[in-house]
Amino acid sequence: DEDDLAILQGLPEDADDEDPADRPVVAVIGRPNVGKSTLVNRILGRREAVVEDVPGVTRDRVAYDAEWSGRRFTLVDTGGWEIDASGIHLRVAEQAEVAIELADAVMFVVDATVGATDDDEAVVRLLRRAGKPVVLVANKVDDTRAESDAAMLWSLGLGEPHPVSALHGRGSGDMLDDLLAVLPEKSGVSGAYARGGPRRVALVGRPNVGKSSLLNQLAGEDRVVVDDTAGTTRDPVDELIELGGKQWRFVDTAGIRRRVHQTRGADFYASLRTRTALEKAEVGVVLIDAGETISEQDVRVVQQVVDAGRALVIAYNKWDTIDEERRYYLDREIEREFVQVPWAPRVNVSALTGRHMDKLVPALETALESWDTRIPTSRLNAFLGELVAAHPHPVRGGKQPRILFGTQASTRPPRFVLFASGFLEAGYRRFVERRLREDFGFVGSPIEISVRVRE
Ligand code: GDP
Ligand code: GDP
Repeated sequence: DEDDLAILQGLPEDADDEDPADRPVVAVIGRPNVGKSTLVNRILGRREAVVEDVPGVTRDRVAYDAEWSGRRFTLVDTGGWEIDASGIHLRVAEQAEVAIELADAVMFVVDATVGATDDDEAVVRLLRRAGKPVVLVANKVDDTRAESDAAMLWSLGLGEPHPVSALHGRGSGDMLDDLLAVLPEKSGVSGAYARGGPRRVALVGRPNVGKSSLLNQLAGEDRVVVDDTAGTTRDPVDELIELGGKQWRFVDTAGIRRRVHQTRGADFYASLRTRTALEKAEVGVVLIDAGETISEQDVRVVQQVVDAGRALVIAYNKWDTIDEERRYYLDREIEREFVQVPWAPRVNVSALTGRHMDKLVPALETALESWDTRIPTSRLNAFLGELVAAHPHPVRGGKQPRILFGTQASTRPPRFVLFASGFLEAGYRRFVERRLREDFGFVGSPIEISVRVRE
């Protein structure tokens, strides 16, 4: 209406000139507690990133729109420790490796009051190998006296340490000026954090399930390679493939097409590739060899998609090789091994013969639609009201916790926050999730439910 028009006209002229997918990405990396989130807040000029005093809190990699001296970039807070699917703490270096790969430049934050630790040294080796521009931030330099602490960090061999106090703002402007000087104009990490453009698909699965064959079958003659910066075998390459009349971006296909040079364990790299590809993608297609018993590794890859919060499609490949008896056992295995993801769309394909290739696109579209779904608060609360009335939480210790209301905090994937009068048991939460799915679908998308207790 007219008001909207007035707002639109009020925008600066170049407001929509620039494609957000081209915006360079700056990752803020460093050990837990060095002040990454504080620095991110400082740069954003508002208190938005979560600052925790306790190390060991799982935090997502969060991307923010940032601006300095009129230049816009995507700022990625890599958070604290990450805990992977098996509950194992990832080493700082492993976490940093993914973040570096997904960035155009890196702000490496070190706590100047502590000095360089072994973890810091490990990250430095990664940074050297990656060859991306780095700005070394010597944080917690709150006064002139602490500046000698910062100078000690010359020893890391990353050039001049920038003394900064993220807490008080000291030095952050100079540091940002130096960052902009080394930041490329355009992003080379192909919109890892951007929205819009062709939808991004990661093709994942254990070795030999047929990823490369499927990619060839889908691409046919149409293959368009994007971002082929060449060089090392570790470079990701995206391919644009037209399917069902639309462009799809298959991310990190280099790792599929040629065997990645393995310096460490094959498993380590397979799992790292999966992680990185999923970070860049919106939907993961997990390929399973239908002719073989579903393995622990297959289950782990599916879990990686769920943990990454991506939409999920499971494709059973090599369908041409199996008989009726195997089909029977496969169905039993699916029921047993994939109980956590009964909502994942399933397609039975053959990369060799091209069987059911046309079923893949509808499955991807369904999954992505669920992933994007937003339920209006009023509808959600009508649903919750009925559910609570018909199925109250069991009484525990003379008390009966109640869901008071809820809201969908975000999409991609849908995340819900329920406010309750007391602790909700895991069983009851699963029940709520099941009913949410029965009512609203979410086929092909993980959903997250968190509960806040109101005293
Ligand atoms: P992260 O885990 O690296 O994201 O670290 P946080 O941003 O959560 O900060 C960890 C702790 O260090 C918090 O208690 C912050 O208040 C504190 N901190 C961060 N930056 C500074 C700083 O420049 N000076 C001082 N004195 N403390 C800081
Ligand atoms: P990747 O390691 O996951 O990329 O797997 P590849 O695409 O290299 O395939 C591994 C092997 O399985 C190759 O010998 C392929 O020819 C074979 N293969 C892949 N898809 C099919 C299929 O649908 N049917 C049959 N019979 N063989 C397949």
